[in-house]
Amino acid sequence: MIKTETILQRIYKAEDPRAADIEYLLSRESSDEVGMIFRFADSVRRAHAGDGILARGIIEFSNYCANSCAYCGLNRNNKSLKRYRLSHDEIFKSILKMVSLGIKTVVLQSGEDFSMEALLLKETIEEIKARFDVALTLSVGERSARDYRLWRKAGADRYLLKIETTNRRLYESLHAGMSFQQRINCLKALQDLGYQTGSGVIVGLKGQTLRMLAEDIVFFKKNNFDMIGIGPFIPHPATKLKNQAQADVSLTLKTLALTRIVTKNAHLPATTALGSIGKRDFKIDGLRAGANVIMLNFTPPEYSRLYEIYPGKGNHDGLIASYESYMRGLSEATGRPFDFARGDSLVQVTDNR
Ligand code: SAH
Repeated sequence: MIKTETILQRIYKAEDPRAADIEYLLSRESSDEVGMIFRFADSVRRAHAGDGILARGIIEFSNYCANSCAYCGLNRNNKSLKRYRLSHDEIFKSILKMVSLGIKTVVLQSGEDFSMEALLLKETIEEIKARFDVALTLSVGERSARDYRLWRKAGADRYLLKIETTNRRLYESLHAGMSFQQRINCLKALQDLGYQTGSGVIVGLKGQTLRMLAEDIVFFKKNNFDMIGIGPFIPHPATKLKNQAQADVSLTLKTLALTRIVTKNAHLPATTALGSIGKRDFKIDGLRAGANVIMLNFTPPEYSRLYEIYPGKGNHDGLIASYESYMRGLSEATGRPFDFARGDSLVQVTDNR
């Protein structure tokens, strides 16, 4: 216990935390030690990101995808999936719903839909920014620096692009035809363009060791990401990884907690995958182990069902009669209020990057 406490303090204070220390903490399994890690993360979250839970609204506007990521149900080899792209009116109707609830971040996400013209997305971004007082986040995968620049100029504020794993060999074994270096280049280009940039990983991939997860966390620290998404692997039946075990929830929560302790003020969502992996909604556990953000899904349900990156996605959200009562429930469970500010990067504000 004393050793765990000492190492927690050490990774919290370190500018350059050691992967071996983080690996040691990830390997802790007694409930006393795991509880200590979660409580430490919760206090770092309170001190550096405050008590407010930030709400983001996501619209999954297309499930077309040119990639074949081994874990993702949208992979192009999944021929049984009906593909869709939302119309202009469907997108704006969803945003109106979001805005009426007081949400001030719109996240536009899709598969890697290269037939989606960069110019069309640019026009959508401009219209959203002209009509609504919201921050706009894109999550549409790897594109050229030219496209990233066009969208940034059109008013996009933030971009999410998970590294998925920082182990090059594991990365390339999961992403046929893609390169790890290209992923890094995209993240760098996004940061250079002044996007508030989010990254993150999937926990529980076959072949992923605790050491690799520790290196992932060191990578987050080095790159000063504004946002980091940590989600558990959930096998999808129409993928190469269909027979692999789902992630261990406790390991996912430890990875989240240690990411909080090391990065201090990054925005960390209690991911939708955490809400989809079990019978219970583990997003609450995420909020208690370092997370400070919740994503609410505003894709029209008939399409959201087709945006099946993993099974059970949004199961819980599907049961939610109203987001207002859902948010009230999370607030009561955690004793923390929802914060309806834009929730811009804290990394940028403090580090003045
Ligand atoms: N096409 C975009 C958006 C991908 S979906 C992009 O590539 O950036 C968002 C995230 O879902 C992915 O980054 C990945 O981390 C996660 N994801 C996909 N399939 C998953 C699975 N089977 N289990 C857990 N997370 C998954």
